[in-house]
Amino acid sequence: MVVTEKKGASVRQPAGKPYVLDIASFGRRPGTSAQVHRTVAAPDRLGVEMIAIEKGEEIDLDLQVQAVSEGVLVTGTVSADTAGQCARCLGPVDGAVNVFLTELYAYPDSETQRTTDEDEVFRVDDDMIDLEQAIVDAIGLELPLSPTCRPDCPGLCPDCGEPLADLEPGHAHDQIDPRWAGLAKYIDPDSAKPAGRPEADAR
Ligand SMILES: [Zn+2]
Ligand SMILES: [Zn+2]
Repeated sequence: MVVTEKKGASVRQPAGKPYVLDIASFGRRPGTSAQVHRTVAAPDRLGVEMIAIEKGEEIDLDLQVQAVSEGVLVTGTVSADTAGQCARCLGPVDGAVNVFLTELYAYPDSETQRTTDEDEVFRVDDDMIDLEQAIVDAIGLELPLSPTCRPDCPGLCPDCGEPLADLEPGHAHDQIDPRWAGLAKYIDPDSAKPAGRPEADAR
């Protein structure tokens, strides 16, 4: 875990709480700021059904923490690798997510604290801010609900369920001639032979 701080103020990290920043040294002086470069582990699987940052995966934080009159403003990027499944062909989708985070943590007794609910604006709590929920929320909003392996993924063949991208162009299933339908049960469904020519198997 790498923590780098610059610009006068220092941000301490309480032991065992990688998502918590101790901003006591800011002394509520507006304009005081610090850079936070840190790699944390995803506390859980973060994301949506089809795509997520896996639990334990590294998340890179590149943030500026700045004291403003009402609290502490956190801005910067959160990035991590993602693992998912294509919504069309169900193949794996590996990628990365890069979210820009902008989050205000209100001081206790601030006007913002008095006029907002706790679930609207995060709070500075005992000179600490906890980034975890903000990061989880930002990632959840960024990830696509229906990821695709490529923009033009053709999906699956509705008849055989194979990915169309793996099949020959023009792949299709001929309708079995009703006169031969009785023979269809003798055709090995796993065979590569087109199902539309039962006479080839009729000896
Ligand atoms: Zn696909
Ligand atoms: Zn097919």
